[in-house]
Amino acid sequence: MTSSPLTRRSALMIAGSLPLLAAGHAASAQDAAKQDAPRDGMTVQVPSIAPYRRMKLGAFTVTTLLAGTRPLESPQETFGMNATAEEFAAASKAAFIPEDKSLNFFTPTLIETGEEVILFDTGLSPEGITTALAAAGVAPDAVTTVVLTHMHGDHIGGLSTDTLPTFPNARYIAGQIEFDHWAAAGNEGFDTKVRPLSERMTLIGDGTEVTAGITAMLAPGHTPGHMVFLIESDGARLMLTADTANHFVWSLGYPDWEVRFDADKALAAQTRRKIFGMIAADRIPFIGYHMPFPGVGYVETAGDGFRFVPASYQLDV
Ligand SMILES: [Zn+2]
Repeated sequence: MTSSPLTRRSALMIAGSLPLLAAGHAASAQDAAKQDAPRDGMTVQVPSIAPYRRMKLGAFTVTTLLAGTRPLESPQETFGMNATAEEFAAASKAAFIPEDKSLNFFTPTLIETGEEVILFDTGLSPEGITTALAAAGVAPDAVTTVVLTHMHGDHIGGLSTDTLPTFPNARYIAGQIEFDHWAAAGNEGFDTKVRPLSERMTLIGDGTEVTAGITAMLAPGHTPGHMVFLIESDGARLMLTADTANHFVWSLGYPDWEVRFDADKALAAQTRRKIFGMIAADRIPFIGYHMPFPGVGYVETAGDGFRFVPASYQLDV
């Protein structure tokens, strides 16, 4: 425990010294204190965060789905491999986050176009994604299309249990370059999760339209065939950036900081600058798979990189 100079008592004293503009009657600070103190026989309700966030984009409904979180110790070893300890600590402090631990988010996105129900990535496990979908009121068999941005385990893990596909009615879409890379690599995750579905998979390239209004863009570096998707409906636009940036401060603010998960670190940095440069210039919202949930925001250029601006109600109005 640390003792803060701003205690509840001093907060009440400050509140008590301000003019109160309550409608109807002017409640005293004492009344307010009585009201929010727990009463005998009553438990204080702490709302838990729903694992989904539904938004509007033109005629499309876009829902981010929190399929899991994972704490990480010593994050510099993952997100700031070529930064000094001092640089990493200063960047963290400036953003009000600890430098010695972090929390990773795994956030697939569902897009309902009116005709198709399209899931982008599937989380670490079937349980994670189906739990989040259930909270959002979507049954796995309602998913018509599963799109894979790339084939790391935290994106393909929810595809199946043993040999049973999680989304029994879906067709699958993935990048040709990505598929070919992992098919040749002798990768257990690919062989278990992706290869059994390959008969039902359409392989695409840079510029391919998944469906009207959803266009794939090759964004390599994180993996050889990593893809992002531009979503457009009724003139509204949004980018699904997948793993182009893996942390909202360390990767966006410092695009050249090397990330352990990036296969080609120089190319990943170049792609980060290109994709987020476009998003900053066009001032369009983006959803990042590993951004803090609900994973939606904007970027502006700042210093040598970008500053993350979390979305508030822009996609609700
Ligand atoms: Zn990932």
